[in-house]
Amino acid sequence: MLTQNLGYPRIGSQRELKKVCENYWAGKTAYSNVLQVGKNIRHENWQIQKDAGIDLIPSNDFSFYDHVLDHSLMFSAIPQRYYDVIHSKGNTELDLYFAMARGYQKDGLDITAMEMTKWFDTNYHYIVPEFYKDQQFKLFNTKIIDEFYEAKQLGIITKPVLIGPITYLLLGKEKQIGFDKIDLIKNLLPVYVDILKKLQDLKAEWIQFDEPFLALDLDEKTQQVYRDTYKYLRKTFPQLKFVLSTYFDRLGNNTELATSLPVDALHIDLVRSPQQLNEVITHLHADTILSLGLVDGRNIWKNDFEASLAIIKKVKEKLGDERVWIAPSCSLIHSPCDLKNETNETVLIPEIKQWLAFAKQKVSEIVTLKHLAGENSGVSHQYQLAENQYANITRRNSTLIHNPAVKDRLSKITKADASRLNTFPVRKQLQQRLLNLPLFATTTIGSFPQTKEVRSWRAQLKKGDITEAEYNKLIEEETQKAVKWQEKIDLDVLVHGEFERNDMVEYFGEQLAGFTFTANGWVQSYGTRCVKPPIIYGDISRPEAMTVKWSAYAQSLTDKWMKGMLTGPVTILQWSFVRNDQPRSETCTQIALAIRDEVVDLETAGIKIIQIDEPAIREGLPLRKQDWAAYLDWAVKAFRISASGVQDDTQIHTHMCYSEFNDIIQNIADMDADVITIETSRSQMELLDVFADFKYPNEIGPGVYDIHSPRVPNSAEMVDLLKKAKAVIPDQQLWVNPDCGLKTRGWDETKRALIEMVSAAKEMRAAVTETIS
Ligand code: GLN
Ligand code: ZN
Repeated sequence: MLTQNLGYPRIGSQRELKKVCENYWAGKTAYSNVLQVGKNIRHENWQIQKDAGIDLIPSNDFSFYDHVLDHSLMFSAIPQRYYDVIHSKGNTELDLYFAMARGYQKDGLDITAMEMTKWFDTNYHYIVPEFYKDQQFKLFNTKIIDEFYEAKQLGIITKPVLIGPITYLLLGKEKQIGFDKIDLIKNLLPVYVDILKKLQDLKAEWIQFDEPFLALDLDEKTQQVYRDTYKYLRKTFPQLKFVLSTYFDRLGNNTELATSLPVDALHIDLVRSPQQLNEVITHLHADTILSLGLVDGRNIWKNDFEASLAIIKKVKEKLGDERVWIAPSCSLIHSPCDLKNETNETVLIPEIKQWLAFAKQKVSEIVTLKHLAGENSGVSHQYQLAENQYANITRRNSTLIHNPAVKDRLSKITKADASRLNTFPVRKQLQQRLLNLPLFATTTIGSFPQTKEVRSWRAQLKKGDITEAEYNKLIEEETQKAVKWQEKIDLDVLVHGEFERNDMVEYFGEQLAGFTFTANGWVQSYGTRCVKPPIIYGDISRPEAMTVKWSAYAQSLTDKWMKGMLTGPVTILQWSFVRNDQPRSETCTQIALAIRDEVVDLETAGIKIIQIDEPAIREGLPLRKQDWAAYLDWAVKAFRISASGVQDDTQIHTHMCYSEFNDIIQNIADMDADVITIETSRSQMELLDVFADFKYPNEIGPGVYDIHSPRVPNSAEMVDLLKKAKAVIPDQQLWVNPDCGLKTRGWDETKRALIEMVSAAKEMRAAVTETIS
């Protein structure tokens, strides 16, 4: 029995990679320093895994920005527009690489970055490979070989990790018409052969091919390409040993395919899909090793050794000791680095800390499991087992986790709790009577610029440099300025600006029972951007109102309508580490009830327009279509529970950005928000078509300008977009707003853009009045 790891966090336990890269971009540190920091991180990671006793330690899992981009560069899949960067004097290969990741504005060049998108259903974003007709590939650099060699010099024979050729192609995007990216396999395979040859020459033994697409729905053609590809690689390299790794979902109807591929070991994710085990074993070829993904690579809980050992024992009985490996469910890049860095007991209380394992601890868990499952585990292993059992038992029974009142309330949810009193047409009349808003009503998505100053106040409060009263005063003044300014430019529905919020999930997590936080639990989101997701450890409840004070204060400053601003239950769930002792749907429903109470309290305080943001609802979709309905069912219901405690004349908004609505438009309609605001400007209103074709019944605010760019559009441009919207959606249903919140923008551009936006709305209204008279 061996242990393997599939990938280790590469940001460095103190986020060294982030710091050095950002300094390099700012011209504050030398190229050689960047390389050195990368090297240090790799060495430290390998050493940690070696010391822990991992048998197969990965290499080529390190990346300066993104491992998919590493492959694109390695394969020379470099879009033409970057050629000028290569030829620009003094540029290194790393400069080219960062240009592809981030764009390039220098030396009179202005080159856009490559697109970025979510890595399966995680919050990690990869750089999408661009494929062109007749795309050729050749070996551009030897990163994977160099890193193997580098580890070998340290006395560690690693297992180089490659994104499997089919997954690599499927991750990419065709940038021209007239070809199918999967057909590029014949051009791509020679590069794999080249790489494998070089690794073989250096005496590599095991190669890991990541093929997570085997856990997704595949068409016939792709299945055949899988068969042909691995057959070919096997034939070309009879000596090398291949481990094929799948994760994030079950093999399902690809079980026969995956087990038929001629590889030496197959890795499956048993955290996501424990139920696939028997079927996989039934199909497994007699000489294939099964790698059991038992330690959760995507969450922060300690493994349950007893449960894992039971599985290992069962598999060992069926396959024999030699054919069983123990592993994390997926790469550990989705886990924070090291629990040892959590020393602040006011941030993460010790009782909860003892239930957790980060990457470094997970690596040890894997090795301990191997010893415990072996014939002669020593006293220290038995001690670790006892410790693990103790942690899991105290967690299960902890009074911190269980709140009978919450469970009781959950069990009493009725259908009526998830429905507004009346249907939308009835509500619309009542809302119109009360709110008296014009056609093409204008609003924003919630946040106004979180300037350096605003963030510095929060930092000062944290450090104790200013008192809470002083902090509140500063926020009040900032809110007041924002409200007065919105009044002045004649926006119809105002917002308070969210100056008091650090982050749209953390802010609520901090005020809800059942949440805790880490001081250093950073996880890479993309490039140098890391996030520190809150941890949901227990039943969720709302000890007191969370936003009423600020919304009511803002409303008291104006006679216009002030929109309350909340984050929805699905988004809070999606962007947190969640408990694994109950279904996600249950945790989500608990959050929904807490948000519902907040909505009702806002209404009681006179806030009659309330927005519940759900930007993450689409990204929560399961990887396999078959599972969508079940997810959408509970996710939509959770939103409805949060929104349905109010009177008919209270207007509920929701907001979703970065969304493709095509497949889920019915479910979006089922959420039954009175108004939905979406991102549409970058696609020139194309994203709106699905709402039009569906005849979306409620009101809708298609974003009229892109807040991700500092560029200020003029009112004529926005009028053009609004005319496009008007052509497909009736006037009575249309709102006018930006694509998303403005927290990342500066005040200057925000002001100029919103003034243009209000003027565009007025022009639209005037045009309607003209046609009527
Ligand atoms: N209300 C939030 C804001 O304006 C919404 C952010 C989001 O959708 N990502 O910042
Ligand atoms: Zn948004």
